[in-house]
Formats: sequence, C-alpha cells, structure tokens
Amino acid sequence: MRFLILLVCLLSVVASADHGDIVGFDAAGSATQRDIEAMLDASIDPREMDGWLRTMSAKPHHVGSPGSRENAEYIAGLLDSWGFDTEIVEYEVLLPTPRVREVELVAPQRYSAGLREDSLDQDPSTSVRDDLLPPYNAFSIDGNVEGELVFVNYGIPEDYEILERHGIDVSGKIAIARYGKSWRGIKPKLAGEKGAIGTIIYSDPADDGYGAGDVYPDGPFKHESGVQRGSVMDMPTYPGDVLTPARGATKNAKRLRRENAPTITRIPVLPISWRDALPLLSAMGGEVVPEEWRGDLPITYHLGPGPARVRLRAEFDWNMVTAYNVIARLEGAEYPDEWVIRGNHHDGWNHGAADPISGQVAMLAEAKAVAMLAREGHAPGRTIIYAAWDAEEPGLIGSTEWAEHHADELRKKAVAYLNTDGTSRGFVNIGGSHTLERFLNQIIEEVDDPRSEISLKERARARQLVFADDDKEKAEARERSDLRIYPMGSGSDYTPFLQHLGIASVNFSFGGEGDGGSYHTLYDTYEHFTRWRDPDLLYTATLPKVAGRATLRLANAPRLPFDFTAFADNVAMYISELEELAKKMREETEHDNALIADGTFAAALNPYRSLGPPPMKDPVPHFNFAPLKNSLDRLQTSAAELAKAASGNDATSREINRLLYTSERLMTRDEGLTGRPWYKHHIYAPGFYTGYGVKTIPGVREAIEQRDYETVEQQIAVAASVLDGISQRIERITLAVANR
Ligand SMILES: [Zn+2]
Repeated sequence: MRFLILLVCLLSVVASADHGDIVGFDAAGSATQRDIEAMLDASIDPREMDGWLRTMSAKPHHVGSPGSRENAEYIAGLLDSWGFDTEIVEYEVLLPTPRVREVELVAPQRYSAGLREDSLDQDPSTSVRDDLLPPYNAFSIDGNVEGELVFVNYGIPEDYEILERHGIDVSGKIAIARYGKSWRGIKPKLAGEKGAIGTIIYSDPADDGYGAGDVYPDGPFKHESGVQRGSVMDMPTYPGDVLTPARGATKNAKRLRRENAPTITRIPVLPISWRDALPLLSAMGGEVVPEEWRGDLPITYHLGPGPARVRLRAEFDWNMVTAYNVIARLEGAEYPDEWVIRGNHHDGWNHGAADPISGQVAMLAEAKAVAMLAREGHAPGRTIIYAAWDAEEPGLIGSTEWAEHHADELRKKAVAYLNTDGTSRGFVNIGGSHTLERFLNQIIEEVDDPRSEISLKERARARQLVFADDDKEKAEARERSDLRIYPMGSGSDYTPFLQHLGIASVNFSFGGEGDGGSYHTLYDTYEHFTRWRDPDLLYTATLPKVAGRATLRLANAPRLPFDFTAFADNVAMYISELEELAKKMREETEHDNALIADGTFAAALNPYRSLGPPPMKDPVPHFNFAPLKNSLDRLQTSAAELAKAASGNDATSREINRLLYTSERLMTRDEGLTGRPWYKHHIYAPGFYTGYGVKTIPGVREAIEQRDYETVEQQIAVAASVLDGISQRIERITLAVANR
C-alpha cells in the first residue's frame, strides 16, 4: 500500500514536471489535485452518458411541457442520489406558444406554406406525436398582416444600406430574411425599425442545407422541410422573463403588463423552411439581388418589392408557465461561502439531443465524479453548485431569473460561473473572462484530444496555424504561448452572471467537425447526434475532463487563479482595434464623400441598374484615445507587478481571494450601458445590432460604429475609469500578497 502511494506521488512529480504547478496551488497541492483529476477522468463513462442522452432526448422537453418537468425531475433524482443537496426551484414566466401560424402567397398566384417538418422513416424520433412544438419564433407579437415581399438578405444594418441605395423602402412591406450572420432576433427588430409590417425568416440551403453538404438523413445538413425555431426576444436589451426585468420571476413578483414589455417584437415574425420559401422567392420580381446576396435555391433571386404579396398571420397563447431549475449544492469544506457555479440548460426545442442534452450529460458526468470524490475524502474546498436551467431557449429565462433573484448573495459569494451548452466534435472552444485565460490554457495543456495523442491545446493551435483567417492570427499562434480565449457576447446562460452581475464566466464546448443543419429543428435527435455529431460521444465525454478540472481547481485552489496579465494584453488589443476602427471609418468616409461629391461614385455604377451612390456621411472626427491608453498603461504595469509579486510566493488569505474573485465586479457599473441598463459589464457585451456577437469595450465601440460621435469621448472616459478601478484593485492585491 505504501509502495503504491509512493508510486502515485512519483507519477505526480513526473506530471507536474511536465506542466509545472497548477495556477493557484503549491507543488504539494498540485500533486494532490492532479491525483484527484486522474480519478475524475477514470470515472467518466461514455456508455452511461449515452443512456442519459437517450432518456432525456426521447421526447419533446421545451419549457412548459410535461417533458421539461420530467427531465428536471430525472436530473434532480440523479444529483440527489449522488449526494448533492438538491432542489427544484420554480419561476413563473410568460411563454408564448403558437395557436395560429399562416404564411400564404396571395399574388401573383396562391401558395399556402406547409409550416411543418416531415417525419423520416430512418429516424423514429421524428415521427408525428401530439406533443411536438411546431416551428415558430418565441416572443413574436401577435399579428395578421398582408403586404408585398422585400428580400432583405440577412436583415442586418449593411443590407438595409444596400436596399436604400436601390431606392427600396421596406415600410408597409413584409421582409423576408435568411437565417445567419446575426442573431435571429436582430432581423425582426431591424425590419420593424425600418417600418416593415412583418418578417419571415428562412434557412437558405447555401448556409446549412444541400449547399453545405448531404442532407438528413443521408448526411447531417438541413432537410428541405427543416425549420430553425428560436427566440426573437430583444435579448440585447435584457434577457430573461419579459415581464420581470432585473427581478426574479417569483410567484408574487411585481410584473410589467405584456403591452409594456419592451423585449417582445414590434411586428409578427415566423420562420419557414426553404421548401416553403421557394414559391415565395420565385414569385418575386424587381431587380436581381447583388451577387453576394444569392443563395443556393435554383432560382434568380430578386429584391422585390412584390409582385409577390404575402399574408402572414401569427397568434400565440400567452400563458404563464413554470420553469424548473435544478439546483444542487455540495458544501465547501473550507470556504462554504465562496461558490463555484456550473450550469447547462435542460430545455430544448422538441428532442434537443445536441442542444442542450449533449452538454447536460457532460455536466452530469462531471457532477457524479465530483460527488464520488467528496465521498472518498476529497470534498471541495469551496461550495460547488450544479445548475440545470430551464427555459434557456426562449431567452435565457431560467438562469436569468435565478441570477436576478439571488443577485445580492451572488455578488458576494460567486467566485465564477462555468457554462456548457450543446456540444459536438472537433476542437476545444473556450470563451470567457480573460482573468482566467492562463488558468484555462493550463487545463487544455493537460487534457488530450480523444483521437490523437496531442493535447487539446496543441490541436487547437495546429488548427489556428493551418486555417487562421489572416497572417496576424497565424503569427500569434506561433508566437503567443497561450491561446486566446474568445470574449463572450451572448447566446447561453453565462450572460446574467457575466454581464449583469460581473461574475467571471467561462463557456466550454467542442466543435468544428460535427457541423450540420439540425439546430433547433425536429431533427436534433438522438439518432442525428450519435450518427453525425459525435459518434461514441468521444468529445462529449472529454468535456467533463475539461470543465471538471476548471470546477475542481477553482473549488480547491488555496489562492484563486485569477491573473491580470492576459486580461491587460487582451484589453490592449481591443483598444488598438478601436483606434483602427475609427481610423478606417474616417478614411473610408472621406474617400467615399469625395467621390460622391464630384460624381465619380455615380459614374462607376451601372446606369442600367437602380443601385445609386450611398448618401454622404458626416466626417468622422479624430477622437482622443489618450485617457484610455493612459489607463491601459497603468493596467499593464499593475498586472506585471502583481505577477512578479505572486510568482514563487504562495501567499494567500481569505481577503486576498475575495479581492481576486470580486475583481470582475469592478468591470461593471450600476448604471449599465447607454440605453440598456441591465447590461452592466463594460468590457464584454452582446452587440445591440448583432445579438450574440460580442462587442468588447462596448460603450466606445458601439458609439463609433453607430456614428454617435458626440458620445465617443464620453464613453472613452467611462471605459478609462473602469480600467482605473481594476488597476487600483490589482495594486491592492499586490500589497496584500507582498505583505503576507
Ligand atoms: Zn442551448
């Protein structure tokens, strides 16, 4: 026995010689931690995960359905049986479900869209059953409208500029937009702002259908009848229950009236398949669309308006439903009031095998291992909370309500929030707070790719070297010792933790080699997932090794692993991007204005086509970025000094840890971002006109992008003061570390 222990220690020494001490641990602590992680790895059982996946994706389980409640109870039962202190926490939330869905071409000929997905013999999960949720966009307003069609491409701001240059106005018309390029909710939001009376969103086969690869069931891509469901709630304003912004949706919570809820769309919207879009698009006339706008349907795409006229009718039951969040705690042995929160949603659109159950089973495998470790004498130092959220799909509702409900306690106690959602196969993908960039890199250095003998980090680096978009990215892959984690916008349950409460957050997944078109369709089934996305769950079963290490290291680290050098390095990059952006916009505007003014622009355009020159734009002034750069200097200096003071010095204390984990709070301001006070983080936000896509240093970046020049320098001052607050905190931590 003694010999065995010695052998384990020797192995640990070898392992730590490879990777050094774990960030936040001394040598002995690192060895113990790595032994614990070897037990975590050994306990992951892909066959067991496969069983959970099959069970939970066997029936529709959207919020408000019996399946959602059954899955919540199933997850709670597992967590409870493993020894977690488990409860199902309920919120009462508004949820529209479709009552009437009609899309009808009324001229020049008639066609009634089927608006239904085919059952396929090859996939028994797709057979018709009465609890299926038909295709719709949640949080579309009710409406019955008729008008001429206008093709708006992806329906993003650039597309409307082109339409305006063609002299096409969508007001009083129905906009038909392709899925893709932006979060779907942006499409009706922008169409509504431009005066359209309705929006139809379809999936072009170029994007995720036969233009991309073989279609289901012969391949993973979108079936001709497949329709992407999804929320169109205005989440860039605030996510969560539309009636209770910034408050938990408890039974007796104060609620807005539905008419006053600002995040419901202004115009009705329905999603359709390409099979239903084809008769509509082929009935359109007007000018041929620009080359970049063409999709892969066998027609000539036209801009309209008309002669195709469409009637669009969408009516919903606006019911209050119960969202069931499963919350499972394992009390920390040393610091019970410091919480590491780990979440993945459980609701899906119908079967939701990939999204979200693949991530859910990865979280469950991790939770089971963590509970087993605790029983065997390795209880976590800090409290670990596993959360299986309901109602993520209609608008991050379950997580947002819980985060809002417990906001004060979370601000005090939450060390970090770790998220997963649907996963696939390929390369490790990590986004999150850059104070954890080094910490996360160390983890992917220590976990191997399941199909090759190299680490996840080396495989991700190889991809970047070979396939990076530009030389800068390739050079960085060669020269930068750590891979950058991506900054997070929105699109999953980390948003309330990161952007509303200022809790350092991370999102983990695998992807890049299991693409397809099943997302939010009837075809996101167990059969599809195990055949095309991640056969044998090779990568799904690697996810708990990655996320589980992050959970356990954060729970056990004597000194929390937050580090500011990578944060400062990323902020430096964002600031230079902002300067670049302003410079480029200034030069382009000057150049275009000159060519428009002297007629050159018009002369270059085809006189037989309607495309006119763009309107003149206000010149872009020179902004003074000096305050931001001065604050960046201080941030870089203070981060380097802390790194120096902390290296080879294991000093720690409750106070040092508190100063470390609450540093992310200083990236928020109570007043939030201009026009959307719910979003309080001043380094990362979802774009107001891109949705999921991140805007870093969003106050400054969006003021420039939206040509709101008067406010740019004001926003620069705000961002500089946020950075100064962080520097001040880092200086305080340095003193505390040096004086121990
Ligand atoms: Zn999801």
